[in-house]
Parts: sequence; C-alpha cells; structure tokens
Amino acid sequence: PELAADMVPRLLDGTEQWCQGFSEPGSGSDLASLTTRAEQRGDNWVINGQKVWTSLAQYASRCVLLTRTAPGHAGITAFFVDMDTPGITVRPLRTMHDVDEFAEVYFDDVVVPADRMLGQPGDGWKLAMDLLPYERSTCFWHRIAYLLATLDGLAGKSDEADDLDLGAAYLAVYTARCRSHITQRALAETGRVGPETSIDKVLLSTAEQQLFDTYRDLVPGAIEWTDPVLRSEYLYSKAATIYGGTAEIQRNIIARRLLDLGKEQ
Ligand SMILES: Cc1cc2nc3c(=O)[nH]c(=O)nc-3n(C[C@H](O)[C@H](O)[C@H](O)COP(=O)(O)OP(=O)(O)OC[C@H]3O[C@@H](n4cnc5c(N)ncnc54)[C@H](O)[C@@H]3O)c2cc1C
Repeated sequence: PELAADMVPRLLDGTEQWCQGFSEPGSGSDLASLTTRAEQRGDNWVINGQKVWTSLAQYASRCVLLTRTAPGHAGITAFFVDMDTPGITVRPLRTMHDVDEFAEVYFDDVVVPADRMLGQPGDGWKLAMDLLPYERSTCFWHRIAYLLATLDGLAGKSDEADDLDLGAAYLAVYTARCRSHITQRALAETGRVGPETSIDKVLLSTAEQQLFDTYRDLVPGAIEWTDPVLRSEYLYSKAATIYGGTAEIQRNIIARRLLDLGKEQ
C-alpha cells in the first residue's frame, strides 16, 4: 500500500508511463512457464532474463515485472522495477503498421530492492490473474467509441448496396459496446472485474477486425493506398486477437472458468 500511495498518482496524472513485463520469447499464452530469474542477495533481488512484446517499454519509467523465484505457479514473483536501473536494455521492435509499439527488454544482473516486491515471494501469478481482466475490459469503452466514429465515416463513403455488410459491422461494434457497458457498470458498483471480461475481449477483437475488413471491402483502395491512418488501423486490428491474451486463450477461459466445461486434456 505504501508503494501504491507513492507511485499510482504519478501514473494517474500522466507524469509517468509504466510497462508490463510478462511475455517472454518462450512464454506467451503459457505465461506460467516464464524463466526470467530473480535471486535474493541480502536486502536486494538480482534479476536476469528477457521479456518481449513489452508495449511502449522505451517510454516507460517503471515496469510491473513477473519473475521466477521457484518452480511452478507458486514460484512466480512480481517486482515494480525502475526502468533506468543499470543492466536493463530496451530494444524497440517495429510492427507491420510501422510503429515502435513494443520492445525486447533484457535484464542483466539488475539489482532491485526487496521493498519493490509486489506482495510476497510467489504472489506474482495471483497478481497477474487479478490484473489481466482489467486489461481485457476497462480501456475498451474508449476504443469502441473510436470504432463507432470510424463506422460513421464508413457509412458516409459507401452506397446503399453495402447496407448488409455495414449492418453486420454495426451489430458487432454495438454488441461489444453493450457488453462493455455492463462491465463498466459492474466495475463502478463493485470495484472489481474477473474472468468474465474475456467475453469483452472476444467481442472487441471480433468487432475491430470486422469493421476494418468491411472498410477494406467497401472502399477499395482506401486502406491499401490512400489513407495512411486507416491503413495503420487496419493492420493494427490484426493484433487485437493477440494482445492481452489471444482469442483462443480467451475462449479457453470462457469455457473453463465461466462455463465449467472442464480442463484441457
Ligand atoms: C500489440 C501487442 C502488444 C503486447 N503488449 C504486451 C505487453 O505490454 N506486455 C507483455 O507481457 N506482453 C505483451 N504482448 C504479448 C502478448 O501477450 C502475447 O503475444 C500473447 O499472450 C500470445 O503469446 P505468444 O505471442 O507467445 O504466442 P503463443 O502463446 O506462442 O501462441 C501461438 C498461437 O497458439 C495458440 N495457443 C497457444 N496456447 C494455446 C492453447 N492452450 N489453446 C489454444 N490455442 C493456443 C495461440 O492462441 C496463438 O494463436 C503484446 C502483444 C501484442 C500483439
């Protein structure tokens, strides 16, 4: 709580940006297999390993970092790491929509004080499971507003013969909006969201891809040649079924945790 009281206001007022160091070259969907090590040395912990796809790491002041301190889920430990600590190297990666969206982040003997551990050793998995449902929901209301504005622009450029395709895209975006409305209200009333936000993530990524695919089909050339903003959004829409956990992983969560359809064989 002391760390949160000190740090969170800096994030909320925009003084700082933070990044999320979860994924590794060998651990994405199977996050619990992560191998970045943290070893205790006196009052400090020393971190070695590599993260990848870390969004906007090159602009971040701090990182919420998952490390391994022991085997298994109960051996994952989270730290709040200053990105200017010696031993951290950030290498931005350029995406196909031509933006340095994410980065490789290397940790070589990075010394982190023990009071930067989030919770206790082994609390990292629970922290990640608590955190990810927020990533899969809270920011979507804004994104859906943007998608609706894009849909309005598309409606102005297409003719009546396109109504069926436009209607399908409209339905997908509005379905995501209705779902997001329920989630934002639940968050306001209870202060918590859980695995049910995997539904929001599936609906948002479906709507986003359907909208930009429809744009490509109804306004030939706009995305390929004439509109760099749309082209960028179209390409970025392909990432929607990957970031924050892939579409398949969301469906697994819905099947197991919401519908109780059993474990993976
Ligand atoms: C734009 C963007 C931003 C990102 N930002 C961050 C960030 O800031 N921090 C961070 O830590 N990570 C970030 N990521 C990484 C993201 O979380 C991972 O890419 C994602 O979890 C998938 O992991 P992976 O890429 O290793 O793919 P893999 O896990 O190797 O998956 C490959 C394919 O196999 C499928 N698959 C894997 N396991 C199963 C299964 N059990 N059942 C069914 N299908 C399965 C997947 O759905 C996928 O289609 C970002 C990714 C993108 C695209």
